[in-house]
Amino acid sequence: MTTLPDLYAAEPIPDAALAEVTRLLSTADLFRYTAPDQAPVSLLEQEFAQMLGAKYALAVSSCSAALFLSLKALALPKGARVLIPAFTFAAVPSSVVHADCVPVLVECGDNYRIDINDFISKLPTADAVIISHMRGHTSDMDAIMALCRAQNIPVVEDAAHSLGTTWNGQNIGTLGAIGCFSFQSYKMINAGEGGILVTDDANLVARAIIMSGAYEHTWIKHAVPAQAMEMWQNQLPLYNLRLSNLAAAIIRPQLAELPRRVADGRRNHDHVAARLNTAPIFDVPAPLHGELRAPDSIQFNLVGITDAQTQTFAETAAARGLKVQIFGQSRDNARAFWNWQFLDDTPELPQTRAMLMRACDLRLPARLTIEDCDIIADLLLDIAQSVTTSCAA
Ligand SMILES: *Cc1c(COP(=O)(O)O)cnc(C)c1O
Repeated sequence: MTTLPDLYAAEPIPDAALAEVTRLLSTADLFRYTAPDQAPVSLLEQEFAQMLGAKYALAVSSCSAALFLSLKALALPKGARVLIPAFTFAAVPSSVVHADCVPVLVECGDNYRIDINDFISKLPTADAVIISHMRGHTSDMDAIMALCRAQNIPVVEDAAHSLGTTWNGQNIGTLGAIGCFSFQSYKMINAGEGGILVTDDANLVARAIIMSGAYEHTWIKHAVPAQAMEMWQNQLPLYNLRLSNLAAAIIRPQLAELPRRVADGRRNHDHVAARLNTAPIFDVPAPLHGELRAPDSIQFNLVGITDAQTQTFAETAAARGLKVQIFGQSRDNARAFWNWQFLDDTPELPQTRAMLMRACDLRLPARLTIEDCDIIADLLLDIAQSVTTSCAA
């Protein structure tokens, strides 16, 4: 029997990180504001902003922290309404609650993207919008940005899991007022924990820098116009959500690996997607026009089968060693909106619920080979065959 590739093992951190980590341990310069300049966190910010084509970047402790700071940077009043997709990770509604705002959930379609009609109907009551490019699936950003611009509503992009994805050739995370990314271990760049936000707006980044914990005049070490920084000195609370130099030292050498990871991840995804789409039980939704994804996982819908068969599919896959997660089928999935019981009011969103009950999630890391991908595709097709023939509806 062929052995299944390990879908959870991480890619090794490049050797270059070791020398820098060793240097940092010997100097003990772990705090981003200790050194007068050129601290690893500062260098990361410059390199990341340049890589994405943004003016400013602020590295912080997580993408959740970046989302929270984005809402605070926008100076939204208490109780402001923030539209978020109903299909996203629990960190997104959490960041809204943390910022004293109210999340308003928008329906998503069975292609995992925001339902534009529901978005249009809810937008007039919104003060801000967070677009979560969930698993790299990009909603119609032309329509969303045009609608939000017309109504003067700021857009924050949650690009936590979308680093490397482009929309009409432009990097995801640079379309809205602020874009947020994660360096948590399951994302494209792995520092265990960490996040970063990018923006072209000096005023927004100045506010975020102060609130991230640039106390007194430490903001001098940021490449941001002093005028913008001076305006907010002593005016804002400090939430201390900074990134450590150690994390930056682990992240920086991985930036050069990104193009390869993106290309290999897309190759793997598209290979498995094409094979799965040959079976009527599977539907891997096509990308939108203008969208070029950087996937490290694959999502597909189970179509034309019963609830019982859906359950059998997941159980058979698990029994054969493949952990296929159906978003809506476990009691604690953090991407199923009805599990966000910390919200004051969880609306019913039938379209998103129906999608989550049939949408499967499988990790497909960039380091897999095409042979590995074929082993996975063979297994999925074989399971599909057994599910549809053994207990046909
Ligand atoms: C991982 C993730 C987050 C949270 O990132 P952290 O760095 O762990 O806070 C937010 N949104 C999405 C879509 C994610 O995938």
